[in-house]
Amino acid sequence: MSVLGDLQRMGHEEVVIVQEPTSGYRAIIAVHSTRLGPATGGTRFWPYATMDEAMTDVLRLSRGMTYKNAVAGLALGGGKAVIIGDPHMSAGREALFLAHGRAVNRLQGRFITAEDVGTRPADFEIAARETPYVAGFGGRGGDPSPWTALGVVRGIEAAAAYRWGSSDLTGKHVVVQGCGNVGGAVALHLRERGAVLTVSDTEGARAAACAAAVQGRVVEPAMVYDVEADIFAPCAMGAILNDDTIPRLRVEVVAGAANNQLLRPDHADAVAARRILYVPDYVINAGGVISGSVALLGETPERMAQRVHDIHDTVRLVLELADRNGVNPAAAADQLAESRLQQREE
Ligand code: NAD
Repeated sequence: MSVLGDLQRMGHEEVVIVQEPTSGYRAIIAVHSTRLGPATGGTRFWPYATMDEAMTDVLRLSRGMTYKNAVAGLALGGGKAVIIGDPHMSAGREALFLAHGRAVNRLQGRFITAEDVGTRPADFEIAARETPYVAGFGGRGGDPSPWTALGVVRGIEAAAAYRWGSSDLTGKHVVVQGCGNVGGAVALHLRERGAVLTVSDTEGARAAACAAAVQGRVVEPAMVYDVEADIFAPCAMGAILNDDTIPRLRVEVVAGAANNQLLRPDHADAVAARRILYVPDYVINAGGVISGSVALLGETPERMAQRVHDIHDTVRLVLELADRNGVNPAAAADQLAESRLQQREE
């Protein structure tokens, strides 16, 4: 793999590889873009098998953050960090996150980070002893999940209006995959709006509790793609829209919180070919990153909440753009992000 070639193609501003032999800290920090503001994105802690794998992930994820923040209308750029190691480690974790704090601090505010897969708020309280450029823990951000869930529901309403001419979800049957922090809250919001729920989780007890809370039913995780319903809301893991699952879907709309739902970009065409309306993941799940604007940009909580509600309008805009430009919604979202970045440059 040619890292410099990838950097040029994807347009990264700066990529830092850091190693601290005393603590065992090994990380890559990728600043994709600071055009709209400081590069902001989570720190992923993962046992990557090779350095190439870690590099591919951080380059892709950091660019994704640029696009997500641009479409959300935030004055934030895109970045990401990956720490290579065992995310379950406890001995030596403090030294690791102090080292991470120092590495982040050397970028002098060009990169601001918070939790992601494998990291938790306590890690950033440790890192905060070395740098002010961390967020996502008590007093500096807090739990983004409720805001992500609210944004997802506003996006579902926009998709319903686009497909059926009304955002009213009364009687609409929604299948929610994953009853975690976001999926569980999405199911509750939908129930409040009169939707009928089918839920699924690999943790059986969690699925049962969620179904009870929303008077819904439970479906086995393996069968979730086969349920005949109006809307499928993926709120668990990525790559669930693929060659196996797309032909099985019996819904009209796919709209949920999970990141990287498409296994490959062309799977968005495969979904469209089945006349299923796909709401791009990074557009509809931006509520969490938007909630960080209070701590990061000094926005009022009221303005932040309004921005989360406005995900409704952003989803509608993306769906309209897709139709107008004859592209799938994922490509339309990328076009919108690129035009916002371009405008800023001019
Ligand atoms: P979570 O870990 O709280 O919940 C995920 C749930 O999915 C768990 O209950 C887990 O048991 C379940 N699950 C895993 N594999 C499953 C499968 N095959 N079938 C059914 N259920 C399965 O995570 P979360 O914070 O709710 O995030 C959910 C998704 O939303 C993730 O993809 C995450 O990246 C994305 N997301 C979350 C936020 C946020 O604010 N938390 C923001 C943006 C995107």
